[in-house]
Amino acid sequence: MQPQGREEAASSIAPKAAQVAPAEPVPEGPPFPDADLMYIVDLLPEPERERYLAIRSFLQSSVRQPSIDYWNREEFPFGLLAGMGQLGLGGLQTDGSSKLFKGLMYVEVARADVSLSALVGIHNELIVGMIDELGSEEQKHRWLPGLTGFTQLGAFALTEPDHGSDIAGGLETSARLERGEWVINGAKRWIGAGTIADFALVWARDEADQQIKGFIVETDRPGYRATKICNKIGLRIMQNADIVLDNVRIPESNLLPGATDFSRANRLLRDSRAWVGWQGAGIQLAAFDVARSYSLERRQFGKELARFQLIQQQLAEILGNASASLALMAQLARIQEDGKLEMAQAAMAKATCTRLARASVAMGRSILGGNGISADYEMGKLFGDAEVLYTYEGSYEINSLIVGRAVTGKSAFV
Ligand SMILES: Cc1cc2nc3c(=O)[nH]c(=O)nc-3n(C[C@H](O)[C@H](O)[C@H](O)COP(=O)(O)OP(=O)(O)OC[C@H]3O[C@@H](n4cnc5c(N)ncnc54)[C@H](O)[C@@H]3O)c2cc1C
Repeated sequence: MQPQGREEAASSIAPKAAQVAPAEPVPEGPPFPDADLMYIVDLLPEPERERYLAIRSFLQSSVRQPSIDYWNREEFPFGLLAGMGQLGLGGLQTDGSSKLFKGLMYVEVARADVSLSALVGIHNELIVGMIDELGSEEQKHRWLPGLTGFTQLGAFALTEPDHGSDIAGGLETSARLERGEWVINGAKRWIGAGTIADFALVWARDEADQQIKGFIVETDRPGYRATKICNKIGLRIMQNADIVLDNVRIPESNLLPGATDFSRANRLLRDSRAWVGWQGAGIQLAAFDVARSYSLERRQFGKELARFQLIQQQLAEILGNASASLALMAQLARIQEDGKLEMAQAAMAKATCTRLARASVAMGRSILGGNGISADYEMGKLFGDAEVLYTYEGSYEINSLIVGRAVTGKSAFV
């Protein structure tokens, strides 16, 4: 894994947004430039390792720096998405990649930009995955080619204004079958890509049998209205939306035939929880990259920050947290390959990696001093993004309670 090019390392004290021209060549970078002290990437078989290196290089050279400006402006970088699509990041779910490779891709996209890693993760785990596993042949034929090429986008619409943690029991959006059409009514909140997607995968309760079912709702259907949620402190590139569904009519065939109750979707939701664990590892590597590079250049009291013991201790702690997260996730990938992953392990990994991520970005923020407060220096952006990882895909508390229930046999939350 590679933190940033040497040119970037040489000029990281200047605000990232201002760095367009290549900097002067600099001498040798620091040891362990990729920060993979535990050789996790070596666990990949050779062809996947080569692909991993090529994609990582693209992400660091073409995505990382431009994403800072997009993040500050809360804009979606459609141009970057095209390049990511060409590298196959829209089709990780169906291209036969190993779980470790897919996970390390999530790490590297998060290392370049956390919002885009949210898009790549939700897209693969919850959109492509749901249609591929629970969709009809017609739905697969219609949507999968565009989705896997990243020329089309879906949004995953589960959370509602009044139901987040208790969504499984509390979901209020309704679906009624009427003369060969489903009529959907309700509201959704926080829906990633809700304003830019081609369709939303909407979870609604069938009035007939009270089961929660998954429906493909094209975003140009009359009655679908999405409003961007502005002024977020994290994931600012991701276009999250409040969605209103007002008597939206869709063909009967837009119901996912495999999603006629919530139980089959649960397996994919378990995997998507684990995906956030990978994001937690990636954001910590990003924090380490930025903090190390800054500490090697910023001078106080006549020497680089990197020479101070307290700075070194924090760098070691960030990298220790990141490595522990990566190692945990690599083992999770193994049990996933063996078909042994359950909700408890996914929840534990998600909660642990995001707890460590929050601690790591706080140390990174402090290493940058006042410049850690400005998102232009990248660390402030990571600081805000970590808050989202801590809360979405089940909050830290709810994931901890899932683990607690698994190891005590007693539920403390329902
Ligand atoms: C940036 C962002 C992107 C998102 N993207 C999507 C998306 O694409 N699609 C989607 O469907 N959803 C999305 N979400 C929603 C996300 O999954 C929810 O925000 C999350 O599940 C928490 O729900 P809530 O915000 O309603 O918080 P609440 O459920 O209201 O919880 C508030 C607080 O109470 C705590 N709490 C709740 N119940 C208990 C309990 N029983 N015991 C102890 N503590 C409890 C929680 O841990 C939390 O600290 C996104 C959210 C954010 C912020």
